[in-house]
Amino acid sequence: MILEHHFASLGQAFSSKTLVQPLIEQRLVEFNQSLASFLSIDIKSTETKCILSGEEALPYSLSMVYAGHQFGGFSPQLGDGRGVLLGEVRGQDGLLYDLHMKGAGPTPYSRRGDGRAVLRSCIREYLASEAMTALSVPSSRALALYDSREAVYRETPEAGAMLLRVAQGHIRFGHFEYFFYQGKQAELDQLIEYCLEHYYPECSATDCPLESMLTEVVKRTARMIAKWQAIGFQHGVMNTDNFSFTGETIDYGPYGFMEDYEPDWVCNHSDHEGRYAFSRQPGVGLWNLNCLMRCFSKHLERDQLIAILQCYEPELQTHYDSLMMSKMGLTSTQDVHELLPALFTILAAEKMDYTVFFRLLSHYEQGEFAFLLDEVIDRERLLAWLERYEVARDKGGLLWSQASASMLAVNPKFILRNYLAHEAIVAAEQGDYLPFRRLLNVLTHPFGEHSESESLAQRAPEWGKSLEVSCSS
Ligand code: AMP
Ligand code: MG
Repeated sequence: MILEHHFASLGQAFSSKTLVQPLIEQRLVEFNQSLASFLSIDIKSTETKCILSGEEALPYSLSMVYAGHQFGGFSPQLGDGRGVLLGEVRGQDGLLYDLHMKGAGPTPYSRRGDGRAVLRSCIREYLASEAMTALSVPSSRALALYDSREAVYRETPEAGAMLLRVAQGHIRFGHFEYFFYQGKQAELDQLIEYCLEHYYPECSATDCPLESMLTEVVKRTARMIAKWQAIGFQHGVMNTDNFSFTGETIDYGPYGFMEDYEPDWVCNHSDHEGRYAFSRQPGVGLWNLNCLMRCFSKHLERDQLIAILQCYEPELQTHYDSLMMSKMGLTSTQDVHELLPALFTILAAEKMDYTVFFRLLSHYEQGEFAFLLDEVIDRERLLAWLERYEVARDKGGLLWSQASASMLAVNPKFILRNYLAHEAIVAAEQGDYLPFRRLLNVLTHPFGEHSESESLAQRAPEWGKSLEVSCSS
């Protein structure tokens, strides 16, 4: 493993030297072999194991400083309160990837926190980040999970753990806010240069590199959120310190994958006002980008910044339309616009499972829709919609079998249902990682049938619908 230290070279204004502090009787319980191979990491070698787990002190490991708008209010100084950037490694695609340990112990930015993470939240992050990757959503990845015998205190004592994660970057919107609001122009410029060089090199050659880079950030963010909306993912804490400048989904906390279709659903029980409700995510993305653009008000004219922001909505809408067109097996966005609102009204009224519905729709053969009608109470209403849908499908010109095959490749059978994560966590807390591995296996191949794991595609039982997730992790 060749560990590089590009972010560390930015200097002391950007981070503090921080070591990973191993947990008591820490064990490597899971690692991601395919990701390790991609990064040329031999995770089984003793030397690598010691470096990754913190048993060997790294001279350049660090915690980053940043700020952020949290639930609408500005916090001028946040930072990695429990995360340590070990360094960067080069992937087989030639790009650099951050190795970041979460739950690594106190840092100068821990405030009143203990710097630790519980096994429950590490398992949730591991499963979600790998599930999102399999669903083609840009996301941080999970490379390794360590459990321990160290107690970490939340509402009750829980098992402490660490998660080694990988992302193209851990630079957040809040990094720019930190320097901008302190009037640290030189550091802001340094950060801009750093991002151009490392993440957006293609923009450096344009007439206005900063403008090109910000336009690309806006578009990447728009496409990421379009994907969230199409698969039914809710982040839960869309603060600007949890928004990546590289357009990746990061900082999985009280997230949720939508089960019963409910646009106003709020997965985070600490979000009392529903600020980050599912249907609000596209708007919040724009709000966050607006916060980001303010940081460049000394670099670009107001009109330029507005023009950059104006790319957001069309990019999100176009990408979302195209994703929904594939999910529905249609070939025209006009048909999507005509059919989708009525479908959503039906799904909401019926409290229909979002994932199950689209998977069933993928199996639908012309004229044979009885199995779909059996899913609903108001059969007439769905029948009327299916008749219109059949017309659109026929008009599209695709063979039904062809459309069905491509729909099955975009409508997952398996998503990370909260009750399944809960069962995997309860078992892991008893030292049994089999349910976690079984679940991980279907989530990383979510479009397959997996007849041996049919139960993992089932809707939540009554007890599983009322599980609560909050910011405590
Ligand atoms: P989040 O919204 O979960 O990404 O966290 C918000 C901020 O709180 C980040 O700066 C975290 O590093 C910090 N934080 C969360 N949990 C802890 C903890 N147990 N100890 C120290 N800092 C924490
Ligand atoms: Mg965070």
